[in-house]
Amino acid sequence: MAEPTKKTLPRVDLPADVRLDTLAVREGLPPSPWGENSEALFLTSSFVHPDAATAAARFANEEEAFVYSRFSNPTVTMMERRLAALEGTEACIGTSSGMSAILLLVMALLKAGDHVICSQSVFGSTIKLLQGEFGKFGVQTTFVPQSDVGAWAAAVQPNTKLLFAESPTNPLTEVCDIRALAEIAHANGALLAVDNCFCSPALQKPAALGADIIMHSGTKYLDGQGRVIAGALCASAAIVNEKFVPVMRSAGMSLSPFNAWVVLKGMETLSIRMQAQSARALQLAEWLEAQPQVARVYYPGLKSHPQHELAMAQQGGSGGAVVSFIVKGEGAEAGRKNAFHVIDSTRICSITANLGDTKTTITHPASTSHGRVTENQRLAAGITQGMIRVAVGLDDIADIQADLARGLSTLTA
Ligand SMILES: *Cc1c(COP(=O)(O)O)cnc(C)c1O
Repeated sequence: MAEPTKKTLPRVDLPADVRLDTLAVREGLPPSPWGENSEALFLTSSFVHPDAATAAARFANEEEAFVYSRFSNPTVTMMERRLAALEGTEACIGTSSGMSAILLLVMALLKAGDHVICSQSVFGSTIKLLQGEFGKFGVQTTFVPQSDVGAWAAAVQPNTKLLFAESPTNPLTEVCDIRALAEIAHANGALLAVDNCFCSPALQKPAALGADIIMHSGTKYLDGQGRVIAGALCASAAIVNEKFVPVMRSAGMSLSPFNAWVVLKGMETLSIRMQAQSARALQLAEWLEAQPQVARVYYPGLKSHPQHELAMAQQGGSGGAVVSFIVKGEGAEAGRKNAFHVIDSTRICSITANLGDTKTTITHPASTSHGRVTENQRLAAGITQGMIRVAVGLDDIADIQADLARGLSTLTA
């Protein structure tokens, strides 16, 4: 006798071969009985069942349905399905922040005695979480140079279970070879997770390059307008349903339906925003390279970037929207003074360490995002006091150039 088929959630009725831009505005769940065209925001903590037997079947996961918003909510499901479609993975799970996505990843896949290899240039809180918090629970991490594939391979131990990468990195835009790291992971029975915040799936699809898990801070380009904190993990249905969902159910690093809704609607314009912001960033980077007061520009879309070709191949021919540069000035003191002068002379750019907003943001990494590490660690990472990071938004780039020129043209030292 055939097994009775498990009752599952319905799909949006779309032709099987629709393309990504269409999925970005339509993937999710079918509308409610009211036929709304814009996705509904389901602000409800729990869901009502028709009878006790159905409730029992749903709690036992014999029937797929919405039960309790700590681990299942229609608005969150719509966001998860849409992001999975864009990343090209079978499934996705939303989380309360980008950092809680990494918390869920490590809690679900690792145990005491396991080993992680991670780039030394990843997001600062990622380093703190792996080294500090998970170190306490007996998960060890080795940090290796971002672009040195040989160093990643050499760091493998018999207990290595996870490689964690981020590309390009903040603020130096260093790129790693995702395909090569996937090969190292898989040859050693480990998984590769990639933080895809900086490019988003509009430019870079780590799953197609062999990554097993794609981590997101939805706070950045997915929302795209600096409104909410959100996160997600994309992976196979087996990893999401068997590893991530049970931990989410007990630990509750849940994405709020409201934040999921903001990110869901943000993804509708993700592709055109990323194209437009990257085009502006390239214009800005080329302009900065020509300024006499600028010592060096870091941007993967420039031919001068040491990994320009790898970046172009991996990022769909685009450099992304984050540009960093070093203002001229002898020594740390003059560098910092000059960087502060350029930042303080702007009247349009928002002085904030956030990125991924339609509003162009400007920050001094050495005293903000990387302010908690020692000067020696910063210098080893290449982050000097003269460095400025600009996350290009949708402002007219001529206005942003004029905004930066105001400070650059009045430097005194
Ligand atoms: C912001 C960010 C995170 C953390 O995301 P939150 O949503 O702020 O928790 C992780 N990785 C990268 C690359 C980021 O830029």
